[in-house]
Amino acid sequence: MINFSKYKDIIITHGLCSGLSIKMNVYIYLVDGLLFDTGPSTLQKDTAKFFSQQTIEQVALTHVHEDHSGMAHWLQKNKLVPIYLHSEAIKTAEKRGRYRLYRRLIWGGREPFYPQAMPKVIRTERYTFEAIEAPGHTEFHHVFYEQDQGWLITGDLYIGRKVVLALYEENMLQMIATLEKVLQLDFDTMFCSHAGVVLKGKEKMRQKLDFLTELQDKVRELRAKGLTDGEIDKIIYPKKQAIKTLSGGEWSSYNIIHTI
Ligand SMILES: [Zn+2]
Repeated sequence: MINFSKYKDIIITHGLCSGLSIKMNVYIYLVDGLLFDTGPSTLQKDTAKFFSQQTIEQVALTHVHEDHSGMAHWLQKNKLVPIYLHSEAIKTAEKRGRYRLYRRLIWGGREPFYPQAMPKVIRTERYTFEAIEAPGHTEFHHVFYEQDQGWLITGDLYIGRKVVLALYEENMLQMIATLEKVLQLDFDTMFCSHAGVVLKGKEKMRQKLDFLTELQDKVRELRAKGLTDGEIDKIIYPKKQAIKTLSGGEWSSYNIIHTI
């Protein structure tokens, strides 16, 4: 866990989660008392210490996945702070998370917590963040836009320019529409939960959109020739993906092809 404040007023905490053969970075951002996502419970030893040392007045969750909300229960109990989440995800949050083994090993479980519906705008003393609906990675996902600073807190909307795997609940058509919407905004620096701080963020986000629309063209061409999505998947992603087996099919390239 490294804490640094390269960006004025933004405190960034970073941890590495690993389990099976999978390794994944997690970044958490604290801006002016507003915490964006909580990180998973597997990082509790470090994050609980970090949270205890910081002034946290409110928490905004991009979405309810356990690597973003795993410490929400702890924060609610120990810091007595309001936690904001997409209104449609509140019911899920109020129940204990149930996950397959690979997820429990990497991210850990998620205790129930009791969030409030996401307001349209979240204010801190110095900043104003607009909560923007951003479905695609999961249906109930927000990104947060600080117009004056050109910041976009992206949760799991970006992650990388190329998409080679998708979780079963991801939808690439929704993702394309969201990327088009977000690219209307005037931002420059992206704060991604897994890639960290991404400079020239808008350019990178556009590259992700280009990647997906080119892929969409290819898939449509092959579908027009009569190929099934399974056959198209094997042509476009010929490499065997270990995670597909490890995750019991929750992650696969087929999920990309099938929803684009
Ligand atoms: Zn997620």
